[in-house]
Amino acid sequence: MNAPAKAPKGFMFDLDGTLILSNRKLGSYEVIPGAVEVLNELERRGIPYLALTNGSAYSASKQGPRLREVGLPIIDGHLFTPNSVAGKVFAERGYRNVLVLGTPGVVEALEGHGIRCTQPGDPDAASADAVYTAWHPECSMADIHAAAGRVLDGAPFYTASDVPFFATKEGPAFGYSCAINGAIHRVTGVEPQVTGKPSQLAMDFVAARLGLPASDIAVIGDDPKVEIEMAVAGGAIGVGVASGTTNREQWAAQGRERRPDLVIENVGELLQGGWLSS
Ligand SMILES: [Mg+2]
Repeated sequence: MNAPAKAPKGFMFDLDGTLILSNRKLGSYEVIPGAVEVLNELERRGIPYLALTNGSAYSASKQGPRLREVGLPIIDGHLFTPNSVAGKVFAERGYRNVLVLGTPGVVEALEGHGIRCTQPGDPDAASADAVYTAWHPECSMADIHAAAGRVLDGAPFYTASDVPFFATKEGPAFGYSCAINGAIHRVTGVEPQVTGKPSQLAMDFVAARLGLPASDIAVIGDDPKVEIEMAVAGGAIGVGVASGTTNREQWAAQGRERRPDLVIENVGELLQGGWLSS
């Protein structure tokens, strides 16, 4: 493996396909080889790191214990979701009331960040300051109608993720918010602002949490359109892993906007070649 020109001062890891693979049928997780060792080593050396998933179904405080149960040593304070980014952005932008198309877990996560949420059918839904779509397997046409109505009235439109698929043990799984966004966009002509990866909002959030400029941060993930696109656009160090959706051949075929600085088999390889030497 190639040594980096300079060792990153901080690390952002993707979750699905990078640190873990989820088994959707069993609702369980499997830790990817090397993930435990690399997180332990970062902790031991006091190097700042975090995990940012695009999964918005659960708050970090719900997901953290499930990950630790299967052996991934990640503390809640190092685990973030698009809801974490949304909570920060909505507070900064002064939204008092956000119309949420998402599961109770999404609402709970946003309210945990101090954002008041409303849902389709609530009296406040028609006066919401913004619309936010996230994990919502039960989304109905009435939900889409309510969200599209607010967007047509000029409320800003946000989403946790606009990615069609994510890696699981059984192969690619469907990204519900992407499909919901497609419906709202088709009706309103408005594209959502993404709070999860690969958005600049997410990159800014990572840099702020790690207390580092993007250029000192290694962004590590399995999806060129998600982590690496964010790394390249944001000026971070992009590291692609072959343990998720993308194999080495597919990594080699990426264009400039999605080409990682380095491709590794799995995160365990970061323990070699001077990557953790800062
Ligand atoms: Mg992934």
